[in-house]
Amino acid sequence: MKVDWLIVGAGFTGAVLAERIASQLGQKVLVVDRRNHIGGNAYDFYDEHGVLVHKYGPHIFHTNSCKVWDYLSQFTEWRPYYHRVLASVEGKLVPVPFNLNSLYALFPPKYAERLEEKLIRTYGFGVKVPILKMKETDDVEMRFLADYIYRNIFYGYTLKQWGLKPEELDPSVTGRVPVYISRDDRYFQDTYQAMPKHGYTVMFQRILAHKNIKVLLNTDYREIAGEVYFNRMIYTGPIDEFFGFTKGSLPYRSLRFEFLHLSEEWHQNVGTLNYPNEYDFTRITEFKRLSGQVCPGTTLVVEYPEAYDPVVNEPYYPVPREENQSLYRLYKELAQKELEGRVIFAGRLGDYRYYNMDQAVARALTIFSEIGGR
Ligand SMILES: Cc1cc2nc3c(=O)[nH]c(=O)nc-3n(C[C@H](O)[C@H](O)[C@H](O)COP(=O)(O)OP(=O)(O)OC[C@H]3O[C@@H](n4cnc5c(N)ncnc54)[C@H](O)[C@@H]3O)c2cc1C
Repeated sequence: MKVDWLIVGAGFTGAVLAERIASQLGQKVLVVDRRNHIGGNAYDFYDEHGVLVHKYGPHIFHTNSCKVWDYLSQFTEWRPYYHRVLASVEGKLVPVPFNLNSLYALFPPKYAERLEEKLIRTYGFGVKVPILKMKETDDVEMRFLADYIYRNIFYGYTLKQWGLKPEELDPSVTGRVPVYISRDDRYFQDTYQAMPKHGYTVMFQRILAHKNIKVLLNTDYREIAGEVYFNRMIYTGPIDEFFGFTKGSLPYRSLRFEFLHLSEEWHQNVGTLNYPNEYDFTRITEFKRLSGQVCPGTTLVVEYPEAYDPVVNEPYYPVPREENQSLYRLYKELAQKELEGRVIFAGRLGDYRYYNMDQAVARALTIFSEIGGR
């Protein structure tokens, strides 16, 4: 077989690039994925009870990018959806990111009122203050509040999620966790927040439905290396694996998902409940809250973070530590030296960087403009 492009991976990065190259440059693309489905980690399907679920954990679409929104809107209609998350803290459910409503959920009204007034006076209304910055305050009550949030909402969750203490992670991660001085309980504040009306997989089917695109599933690209002739390659798999781990393995955090079906119509009041301090799972998500699906029964997913082992589970989150970035840079240099630009590495695994879905799409659109598209 002869094609212009071989694209490894049918997730957001690979699918968007395939679509752009096929439809805008008129070139032939072969997309291969070693999984038995398209969509990468955003893949969804109807479980045996008829509930639309996400195989690799809950995926909620949100973006501030008009370009990304307009691009994806060619392939899906949307269902507006504002994700809400509550954390279980000392037997109470409080909105996260921590905000002014969380104060009232946790503390007696008079005390919550005093803290609210102080927060607004110090930082202003509608402002997101990084928790580590708030911890620097001289005010005793505010310091108490910052320590309380850090200890009860942030610390335990981070420890479970990463298997590391917050101080062992890159400060860019810990520094980002905000206290939101607002009454806005939405988990995201992006301009566009919605779920693909018929699910992610249907959207991917439409993205890839071009006559210049051929998709091969259950296929590792190495299996077809000798049989397919291509001019250029885009690789969205793990960059360390591409080079046979010659410089060492890039660390990832993995997850185990436990799906539960209950015969009740709804199980929880919001999309996701976080458990920072109890149990060994981090969160429970109810899919019908995300999809708005009307059907009997409900399906939940419980997430158990665990160490990554290539034989047992999937590489989900690149571990944000400087030493891992240094190792990644060695692979980047190797790619430049040995391949001289003939292979483009991209996406969550190729760039060894956590991307939200919209960031993966934006990166794919940028790469497309760099290879000669508009
Ligand atoms: C648990 C979890 C929850 C998330 N929730 C959200 C969310 O709510 N909102 C959000 O915006 N983002 C979320 N994300 C991020 C989202 O999953 C990513 O942005 C997206 O998956 C990136 O797409 P990608 O194409 O770069 O990678 P992927 O989706 O991982 O696609 C890469 C594909 O390459 C294939 N592949 C790898 N190696 C080979 C090989 N050798 N041969 C053939 N195929 C290969 C893989 O099988 C895979 O299908 C979440 C991620 C996780 C892990």
